[in-house]
Amino acid sequence: MSGESTFTPHGQHFIAGVQVATDTTFDSTPVHGPTHAFSMGTPDLIDKACQAAEEAFWSYGYSTREERAFFLEAIADEIEARADAITEIGTQETGLPVARLVGERGRTVMQLQLFAAHIRAGDYLDRRYDTSVTFPQPGAKPRLRLMNRPIGPVAVFGASNFPLAFSVAGGDTASALAAGCPVVVKGHPAHPGTSEIVAQAVLAAITRCGIHPGVFSLVQAGGRATGEALVQHPLIRAVGFTGSLAGGRALFDLCATRPEPIPFFGELGSVNPMFLLPAALAARSEEIGIGWANSLTMGAGQFCTNPGIAVVMRGKEGDNFAAAARSALGQAQTQAMLTEDIAAAYRERRDRMAAEAGVSSLLVSSCNLRSATSDLFSVTAAEWLGNHVLAEEVFGPLGLIVIVENFAEMCEVASALTGQLTATVHMDESDAEAALSLLTILERKAGRVLINGFPTGVEVCDAMVHGGPYPASTNFGATSVGTLSIRRWLRPVCYQDFPHSLLPEDLR
Ligand code: NAP
Repeated sequence: MSGESTFTPHGQHFIAGVQVATDTTFDSTPVHGPTHAFSMGTPDLIDKACQAAEEAFWSYGYSTREERAFFLEAIADEIEARADAITEIGTQETGLPVARLVGERGRTVMQLQLFAAHIRAGDYLDRRYDTSVTFPQPGAKPRLRLMNRPIGPVAVFGASNFPLAFSVAGGDTASALAAGCPVVVKGHPAHPGTSEIVAQAVLAAITRCGIHPGVFSLVQAGGRATGEALVQHPLIRAVGFTGSLAGGRALFDLCATRPEPIPFFGELGSVNPMFLLPAALAARSEEIGIGWANSLTMGAGQFCTNPGIAVVMRGKEGDNFAAAARSALGQAQTQAMLTEDIAAAYRERRDRMAAEAGVSSLLVSSCNLRSATSDLFSVTAAEWLGNHVLAEEVFGPLGLIVIVENFAEMCEVASALTGQLTATVHMDESDAEAALSLLTILERKAGRVLINGFPTGVEVCDAMVHGGPYPASTNFGATSVGTLSIRRWLRPVCYQDFPHSLLPEDLR
């Protein structure tokens, strides 16, 4: 270890409130600041964490909504109490700027508070009442009551690109704890120190609220065997994941082939296509081009909602759009990427795209090791439609302009898309008729459809959907952002002819 830091991680796992170390360690790889050694996760630790989570469920799963809301607020307070130290180690480990880490912490705290308010309101229980009919026969019916109940212990995989808001105490954990489900987190190796300090905040809240410590465990990274053991553990009832298509699909398949299959809620990213209709392009090609460049380069392009593809009509206005985007991208600063592997994968995918038939390079940048600068390519729709590689996500600040000859071809591109997290249409009033046709196609493709905006920046609120048809997500009925995300950790139970005193308190 070298350098100074106000927070020095102990490098151990937290299993039900107890610090545990294993024999082997891995080193963190910060962009700047000291490196630290972290104990590696193992299947044995996963087993201990899952056993403790199951034990905790017998009390936590039956706690009151008010108790859980108070607990979520306590976690939020404990995170705030560690604010500066979290920002410091978070920026060191991820290379993300201070302002981003501060903003992401605010979002993490807000998510916890939002779920506290959400469960207090109680609508998520979806309570239903059918009264009994005893006379006249044969119309007799039993008395039925229905309510959503928590499913039991769940697994959460920390995401590399959101070290706070989609990691240890991020949206997946907040929604699961709100539902009444204990959580076993598998930390991401890109930010183990950030994971540790946030886990400390969760543990402090557990102590403050007198909750069973098995309700939360953090097992740090330990290679593929650790993640595989987690999704296959018989006590785990569902999994929340954000990451690559390859990793997500492998874990999804493991969940599906368990003796008792469980849902795997994987958010696997997408190219988030943007369609520019003629009147909008004629009126504001430059403005849209600059806006696109800004959205593409935000966070070095490491957002699942990064708008990687712009579909434009061939012509002068389309050229203006491309020129404006190229100029803005060319001025964007070099940014550190989350890990060296992610930076290397970006360059490899960029070089692969440059070599594809029919692809023209409008802007190619040089970057190395862990940094990324922007790249811009263009291709005709005819080439794009014939080459599925061009429709795959490139995780980083890369834009591809797909040039169509007419509106019919634009609709053909839209129809050929796989599932997306978002799809955007830029339009003016006189584009309305075309927009309607296009939006009808896009609504079947994406979880969120936008008009005249950019998809980066996902609001955490009641009406948000962050999901979509495969491969954007592995479960098109679910969202991983917003209050609706709590549904992933619930299942409806029907209570037939229960005496009032035996009904769950929320149904009485
Ligand atoms: P990743 O490689 O999918 O890893 C995410 C998590 O899953 C890690 O904890 C990893 O554990 C685990 N994992 C992956 N494959 C596994 C397998 N076969 N078996 C068991 N566990 C497995 O994602 P990443 O590390 O965040 O970044 C790599 C790539 O993912 C990026 O280049 C990017 O393409 C993509 N990504 C996309 C988004 C998005 O929102 N679209 C977000 C983040 C990343 P270990 O590393 O400990 O094995």
